[in-house]
Amino acid sequence: MFARRITHLKAYKTETSPARVKLSSNELPYDLPDWLKERVKKAVAEIPFNRYPDPYASRLREILAEIWEVSPENIVLGNGSDELILNLTIAVGEPYEGVAYPIPTFPMYRVCADTVGRPVYEIPLQRDLDIDEEKTSEVLENYRPALLWVSYPNNPTGNLFSREKLERLRKRVPLMVSDEAYYDFSGETFKDQALKGENVVVLRTLSKIGLASLRVGALIGEESLVRELFKVKLPFNVTYPSQVIAEVVLTEGREFIEWAVSQVISERERLLGELQRLENVEVFPSRANFFLFRTPFGADLVHKKLLEKGVLVRNVSYLPNLEGCLRVNVGKPEENDIFLETLSEVLRELE
Ligand code: PMP
Repeated sequence: MFARRITHLKAYKTETSPARVKLSSNELPYDLPDWLKERVKKAVAEIPFNRYPDPYASRLREILAEIWEVSPENIVLGNGSDELILNLTIAVGEPYEGVAYPIPTFPMYRVCADTVGRPVYEIPLQRDLDIDEEKTSEVLENYRPALLWVSYPNNPTGNLFSREKLERLRKRVPLMVSDEAYYDFSGETFKDQALKGENVVVLRTLSKIGLASLRVGALIGEESLVRELFKVKLPFNVTYPSQVIAEVVLTEGREFIEWAVSQVISERERLLGELQRLENVEVFPSRANFFLFRTPFGADLVHKKLLEKGVLVRNVSYLPNLEGCLRVNVGKPEENDIFLETLSEVLRELE
């Protein structure tokens, strides 16, 4: 009944083990403050629940356009940026043309390509976790993929690939997607090039700045490109409640979000510094809200022991180049303290 490419797939699994401190999904550690939830409640109560939402999400696109200093015509929204990844995979190039991306990276690029049945060209990162320009150029030249995915910063490694390399690579492919899910923590973007339609579009999301529950992602691109994507998107993909809540939070809660983001950035720097001082830990630089660290003790064991003590992180050690590595996102200061103490304890036990 189902195509072989589907029966061969595995459903996406995320770690849901209950834990005292959850640092495994790169979420913002802060929930909305009570006063803002009150505002949200009021706005939600006013929704006509019998009506379909605005398929253009006009008000929300206007607000986002102002924040990102673009025009609403440069924005199409998705039910999370995941959905935009799927829409791009469906819409760009011809079905027999593949998609390329460095690995390890965000798994959804592969999931969407496999679902749609497009070839994938995976290019291992260099040992220093930067993109391999030579190998990527070869793939672009030899296989002519329709698309190059670049997670910028890269999940799960946390680093920004060399900008000069990306500037050269994007000229060698019909479309480069700069997936800027972690933009708020890096400040680096290809938005200007995207607006000019220079072979690049940008993906953003509200998930990492406190609204993961809503599922709102955005693509920023040149107007004609955005118009094509409007044809592919399901009409009512962003729900009425999601539109309304995002509107309230992005207008009335901007200061809260800015505070939370800056808190995460300064905690990231503190954590990286503290971890550098620990023995038996190699910590990797990060421009995102998470980072990698490596221990010599076997990632499965360290992961298990952390969880036994109530701290959930992501085991990414099975990925190429990441043997021994765990990924952890920045939490609230008190959660980060618990993480640091617990990790030190685990390392002492294993020594
Ligand atoms: N891109 C990257 C690089 C991500 O890490 C994530 C979320 N983990 C997404 C996209 C998807 O985000 P959303 O919640 O908007 O679907």
